[in-house]
Amino acid sequence: MGNETAIKRILVVEDERSIAQVLTINLKMAGYACDVAGDGEEGLRLALTGVYDLILLDIMLPKRDGFSVCREVRKTLSTPIIMVTAKEEDLDKIMGLDLGADDYVTKPFSIKVLLARIKANIRRSAGELTDAKTPEESSDVIRIRELKIDTKNYIVTKKDKEIELSKKEYEVLVYLATHVGEMMSREDLLTKVWGYDGFLGDVRTVDVTMSRLRSKVEDNPSEPEYIFTKRTKGYYIPA
Ligand code: CA
Repeated sequence: MGNETAIKRILVVEDERSIAQVLTINLKMAGYACDVAGDGEEGLRLALTGVYDLILLDIMLPKRDGFSVCREVRKTLSTPIIMVTAKEEDLDKIMGLDLGADDYVTKPFSIKVLLARIKANIRRSAGELTDAKTPEESSDVIRIRELKIDTKNYIVTKKDKEIELSKKEYEVLVYLATHVGEMMSREDLLTKVWGYDGFLGDVRTVDVTMSRLRSKVEDNPSEPEYIFTKRTKGYYIPA
């Protein structure tokens, strides 16, 4: 399953658009996948999906501040968190709070330094995966609201009840869940999940698998809560 895990995914929680933009551009150039949340609530929601390898977390944010986001994330996840602080003078106080953050960077920061920190934090965290941890604590578990995908043991549960999925249904679900918010065309799915070139496969294969998957995952497949469709465009799990 893990052929997508080579690309590390970073969540940027930052309300200043210009900074978020600079970060996104640089992270993508450095080979990372990157999502941006513009406020603390959205940041927390995305962070708790568990799909991220690292979170860059601003402190002063609308709706919910970075302290609170960090504390909430730490209740369930050990994803590396780099706090982005606005002023030098805050740093002592912030570091004294023991939020469970892994690192701190002060604005204005050098992109080069930040990238080095990100790399180091991800490497450190990957090394920690050999520690004895329950799946709940590791990033092997993807959570989307009441859905829990344990990618280590290939078990999908909803409200703690196991859902029996075929291999392809499972792979499609994991693929969408690790690309939350991204529209995947049927051709994309054929290429990525089935390993077919779009011209070789029949896109109806995707529709059939998707329809079965939805009948298992959704309470009411005609009013999906997890896997959404946009006619002619494709499928996605909303962020
Ligand atoms: Ca801010």
